[in-house]
Amino acid sequence: MAWPASRPVLCSLFVLARKMADSTAIEWTDATWNPVTGCTKISAGCDHCYAERFSERFRGTPGHPFESGFDLTLRPERLEQPLRWRQPRMIFVNSMSDLFHKEIPHEFIARVFDTMERANWHTYQILSKRSSLMRNFLRKRYGNASGPMHMWFGVSMEDGTKLSRMRHLQEAPAGIRFLSIEPLIGPVGRLDLAGIDWVIVGGESGPRARPMDRDWVRDIRDQCKGARVAFFFKQWGGLRPKSGGRKLDGKEWSQFPAMPTTYSTAAE
Ligand code: SF4
Repeated sequence: MAWPASRPVLCSLFVLARKMADSTAIEWTDATWNPVTGCTKISAGCDHCYAERFSERFRGTPGHPFESGFDLTLRPERLEQPLRWRQPRMIFVNSMSDLFHKEIPHEFIARVFDTMERANWHTYQILSKRSSLMRNFLRKRYGNASGPMHMWFGVSMEDGTKLSRMRHLQEAPAGIRFLSIEPLIGPVGRLDLAGIDWVIVGGESGPRARPMDRDWVRDIRDQCKGARVAFFFKQWGGLRPKSGGRKLDGKEWSQFPAMPTTYSTAAE
């Protein structure tokens, strides 16, 4: 799943490749890890996919990590990267793809999980639009157990037409569940937030960014407050991710799920 980085990329190809592996400008994580890159569009939220835009810029560039553009590509050489990062990090898994894309073999996904379970000093954020496939995989792997607490599972949705993704997440054996409602392109309506620990909201950015109504965001914030769910407002969006800032009614909302970490927690 893709989020726009908020800084232009100015470094050389090889420095770029390294930065993509171990640092990020995404506000709510420390690092990205992409054992798979590339994807295909599945709903309106994908229309202006940042990962596609970024990857396709380098299609055909010899030796570049994105020489094949946004084609789905398994990268087994990256499978053990988190084991080499000794300091604990919050790691966004597959920021340039969707780990539960139907063309990724189960055996490969299992190897990604093997690493996450072994390198358990990190916290992993796994986000998908293929929510039923994610649920099925988690059921097979963890049965009726809740799943490891250092692995957070989320689904991405863009409006109230994709609430089935949230239901699939609620049915999955996950310790921490979150929603990424970005780009928010329509009202979500009434949300049943039972079992949901964290909600991220953001507006679209880029040259064809679709506008986000303030009342849609307020409605989600208020539902989170009512359900005591952590709320993170990432950005208003616009031409650039930072164009509109990230204050909602004069305040930055940067809550994280209540966890034994140094991050701020839902205290509202
Ligand atoms: S699922 Fe995510 S990575 Fe895949 S096309 Fe849609 S926005 Fe891009």
